[in-house]
Amino acid sequence: MHPARFAYARPADLAEALDRLAGSAAPAVLAGGLDLVPALRARKARPDTVVDISAIPGLDYASLRDGSLVAGATARQDQVLRLAEAHPGFALLAAAMRTMGTAQVRRTGTVVGTVMQADPALQLAAVCGVLDAIVELRGPEGTRRLAAASLFAGTRLPHGTLAVEIALRPMAEREGWAFARAGLREIGGHLGGVAARLSFGADGRHVADAVVAPFVAGHDGSPLGPVGAALAGRPLDPDTLRDAEAAARAAVRTTGDNLSSADYRRHLVGVLTRRALAEAAGRARRNPDV
Ligand SMILES: Cc1cc2nc3c(=O)[nH]c(=O)nc-3n(C[C@H](O)[C@H](O)[C@H](O)COP(=O)(O)OP(=O)(O)OC[C@H]3O[C@@H](n4cnc5c(N)ncnc54)[C@H](O)[C@@H]3O)c2cc1C
Repeated sequence: MHPARFAYARPADLAEALDRLAGSAAPAVLAGGLDLVPALRARKARPDTVVDISAIPGLDYASLRDGSLVAGATARQDQVLRLAEAHPGFALLAAAMRTMGTAQVRRTGTVVGTVMQADPALQLAAVCGVLDAIVELRGPEGTRRLAAASLFAGTRLPHGTLAVEIALRPMAEREGWAFARAGLREIGGHLGGVAARLSFGADGRHVADAVVAPFVAGHDGSPLGPVGAALAGRPLDPDTLRDAEAAARAAVRTTGDNLSSADYRRHLVGVLTRRALAEAAGRARRNPDV
């Protein structure tokens, strides 16, 4: 199918992009185009104007700023992955990104575009929740910063909003992390997965803080609060891990589809939560400061 008719704009700077977005009744931002172009062709997206941000200078950076990893709106996934791999504080992000698509996808797609797509079944939904990602937005309401988790939870943005940057905080040295997923590319997608971080108190035995976020169809991308509550202040023994698994199963909201039932996904998130917490604990314990 051919896309419905739309005007195409390739602004030369940010101000012009914001003008074009504000001046259109139903605009769409085009970054890498991996999601938007198929949506246009299937007529799932029918914008009146497509604003291509690829020519705007100064948005293709991926760097560290005050310890956080920041990526501009046109920074490609592979740029961000290389940076994350070079800095231990972003090992969780790197582990998750290595499972995203193919090398070709990562060369074309942007991290900001993936987050703006806001699909809670994708890896970055969980990573953004665990690493407290913040997106900087420009638009009719001026400049504002928003937790990326709220995008995955379905927050609607005012018409004409452009995301210019995402920032993710580093893991502290005392924090252990893990990323676990199930599913094969061959079957057309992930069944689900989790990202986790965990730290111990001064005694090195009792959990001080644990955050687990699932990425799975039907969940809203937010961390599973009851899992953190089931662990806080307790030693990480088999009983605690079993309680965390049960809490994850009960707290995750998921749906069934042609790949698996909702019950299977709930079970999967529970099992992956237990395994991820054990792995994160192993990493936290290897840190001599614990
Ligand atoms: C074969 C294949 C496999 C894939 N596997 C995975 C995978 O395993 N995991 C995964 O997470 N993704 C996967 N993807 C998807 C891909 O990683 C991202 O969805 C894609 O890169 C999104 O980035 P983009 O720059 O192409 O966004 P685009 O397609 O350009 O935009 C995506 C959406 O976000 C909006 N948008 C983009 N940038 C902005 C902005 N700056 N401000 C406001 N709105 C904006 C667009 O209007 C559009 O609605 C896969 C894609 C393909 C083709």
